[in-house]
Amino acid sequence: MTTVLVTNESRAKEYIDEVFSQLKQKNSHQPEFLQAAEEILFSLAPVFAQHPEYIEHNILARIVEPDRIVSFRVAWQDDNNQVQVNRGYRVQFNNVIGPYKGGLRYHPTVNESIMKFLAFEQIFKNALTGQPIGGGKGGSDFNPKGKSDAEIMRFCQAFMTELYRHIGPDVDVPAGDIGVGAREVGFLWGQYKRIRGSYEAGVLTGKKPGYGGSLGRKEATGYGLIYFVAEMLREKNESFLNKTVVVSGSGNVAIYAIEKAQAYGAKVVACSDSAGYIYDSEGIDLAVVKEIKELKGDRIKTYLNYRPNAEYHEGCTGIWNIPCDIALPCATQNEINGDAARTLIANGTKFVAEGANMPSDLEAINEYLANDIYFGPGKAANAGGVAVSALEMAQNSGRNYWSFNKVDEKLQDIMKDIYTESKEAAEKYGTPGNLVVGSNIAGFVKVANGMVAEGVY
Ligand code: GLU
Repeated sequence: MTTVLVTNESRAKEYIDEVFSQLKQKNSHQPEFLQAAEEILFSLAPVFAQHPEYIEHNILARIVEPDRIVSFRVAWQDDNNQVQVNRGYRVQFNNVIGPYKGGLRYHPTVNESIMKFLAFEQIFKNALTGQPIGGGKGGSDFNPKGKSDAEIMRFCQAFMTELYRHIGPDVDVPAGDIGVGAREVGFLWGQYKRIRGSYEAGVLTGKKPGYGGSLGRKEATGYGLIYFVAEMLREKNESFLNKTVVVSGSGNVAIYAIEKAQAYGAKVVACSDSAGYIYDSEGIDLAVVKEIKELKGDRIKTYLNYRPNAEYHEGCTGIWNIPCDIALPCATQNEINGDAARTLIANGTKFVAEGANMPSDLEAINEYLANDIYFGPGKAANAGGVAVSALEMAQNSGRNYWSFNKVDEKLQDIMKDIYTESKEAAEKYGTPGNLVVGSNIAGFVKVANGMVAEGVY
């Protein structure tokens, strides 16, 4: 029996090595995608050892190849009547569990590697939610910063004029991500509706409540993150009460993470934007951050105009030098490297959980795991946003609206379930307390079983 297991284990490792080395060869120019794939693939060894049928079905080599990638020209007219050209993308990675589902990102750094890493992560995140949604992602290298409302509208309309032929409520359901919020989703939705000539509300999520959107969607990623961390804290007989928290970012995820953490009695002392970070030793005044970011669309440094005793520092990485009990990276990918992780550890941080997608690089993750930081990886901890998107789809299909409390209660249950499933999978496969392994395995097994059931295609 032991010999069989050892054989299975070494066969599993060989298989993963083989798939990953081919993946590296084929995608050598896509570092972010390879990073996301490496993290997931190598945590799956115990699953392949126990399920040789996944190797027989060559699940791994199939799951790392997107169903399809659409790339398209987006030409639009700026306010000076100049014609601008951007590139649009939609990566439809896997639809075993449901229609492709995932946000759209507008940011100058967007390229195929970033789109693929995000879509790949989305497969497992969406599976973890327990909702019927597959994995996808899209976006553009369009930079919304400094653009007028009219320019944003024309860009969104031009983007949808191509995208509409690839999506649908039962096909692929985009939503927001960095640079795409309710305003952009509104413009995209209007254009889709005009072109299709029918009211297919479930084609996009993150719409405003009142015309297709769900109450609680705006808050869902941030609140969900805090519900998840509350479970992590409970595990260690701790709570948010009087804990010092650092949150990076000041967008939608960060704002509602701060709101819920404060409601649970935590003291949030810092947040940031892409230019720098603020430190307020008395605790962040969230009403001020909301006014700056949600109403004015201004830089976070203007916080000092309202709270002169606070500090502003240029650059984003310094935020991890601030001593805290709980660190919540909610800005963007690779914002915590090995050095930043070591600083957190030296400062006594005990919990890190990711509101952003892949904010910790592989070295940082290894540091957390080796140094007794209890770590909540993004695909589990930030799944609340897409989970409530699935609830929005359900409301759209049922042609009705649920109350905020109903949505929020469902979100709390979903986040608890994700935590429990990830924790139990980690235990079952021999790495108790490792939520990276646990969440990767828990998500993967659902998709792999679906792929086995569907047969080869
Ligand atoms: N962009 C979010 C994510 O990374 C939400 C996607 C959605 O609601 O479809 O999960």
